[in-house]
Amino acid sequence: MTTAPAPLPPGLAETLLELQEQSPLLVALFDARDVLCHANTAFREAYCVEPDGLLTWADMMRDNHAQGHGALIEASDIDTWLASVSSRRGKLPYRAFEVDLCDGRWLWVTETTQAQGWMLLVASDITSLRQDNRSLRLAHVRALAAAHTDPLTGLSNRRHGMQVLQDVLVRSEPWPLCVALLDLDHFKAINDGLGHAAGDRVICDFARQLQASIRREDGCGRIGGDEFLLILPATGLPQAQAIMARLQDRVRKARPLEDDASRDSQGYTCSIGLAQAIWGESATSLLARADAALYQAKTAGRDRICLAD
Ligand code: GH3
Ligand code: MG
Repeated sequence: MTTAPAPLPPGLAETLLELQEQSPLLVALFDARDVLCHANTAFREAYCVEPDGLLTWADMMRDNHAQGHGALIEASDIDTWLASVSSRRGKLPYRAFEVDLCDGRWLWVTETTQAQGWMLLVASDITSLRQDNRSLRLAHVRALAAAHTDPLTGLSNRRHGMQVLQDVLVRSEPWPLCVALLDLDHFKAINDGLGHAAGDRVICDFARQLQASIRREDGCGRIGGDEFLLILPATGLPQAQAIMARLQDRVRKARPLEDDASRDSQGYTCSIGLAQAIWGESATSLLARADAALYQAKTAGRDRICLAD
């Protein structure tokens, strides 16, 4: 258990603010909704942003990608890129990684995250450090990200989803904790009737609906063909149920195939099994309970949420 720090002596907070403004380190603060609430000059210049109380991290990255300034994002599809980076962002109390900027600099970025709260980003310019091992380091980072990512949706794959779940189950902070298993209903019929490419579009749409329904600290993975895992730290069953109900509503309204005039009425639904973790329970047992609840949701008629015992 961490104790709260003593209040700062008068004037110290102002001094801290002045110094970080003057520092070449990049400093930024994001709130629980991932809105950029504060950024010092070095950060604002590097990422070409002005915090306005609304701008989120995802907005900032979309802007950087569209304008070709700030962070170097070498991806043709920004949504898949955001999904992939979000699968690692804010899941642990601390992480550090390298980032390339469009202006040729590269940064060592650290993120310190409070459970369900603020995220402090501090980054330093490491362009002048020895470059010898850089390509090797980058190749390693890219290989690791690829090993964690489902290539179709950009979400965590099964392996990374399980890893996030195992990590979160042994931490004391994010309790209560819920997990959901979600499976698309009659998905084979979409594949068989409209083709595999249409099925893929529905899977990607579902991934986007999931992402739009969850918070930064939630884990989200595609763990099978049309099966997905959500990990909801610091969330009890009633709250998780409400989040899942909102997600199902969004999904019922989605029309991912409407580009094609002959298919414009084709919607889809999903079934959900929801379980609250018991302290000391293994990931396998928790998932088995969620899976049994998902099975109930399927047998009870689909397009519904069932709770585990
Ligand atoms: P249920 O409501 O009982 O879940 O019925 P279902 O038809 O959705 O059955 P199930 O979940 O077992 O079917 C999953 C199907 O997903 C089977 C497989 O052909 C298809 N699938 C698996 N991976 C992919 C993929 O990457 N793309 C597409 N288009 N289809 C996939
Ligand atoms: Mg299915």
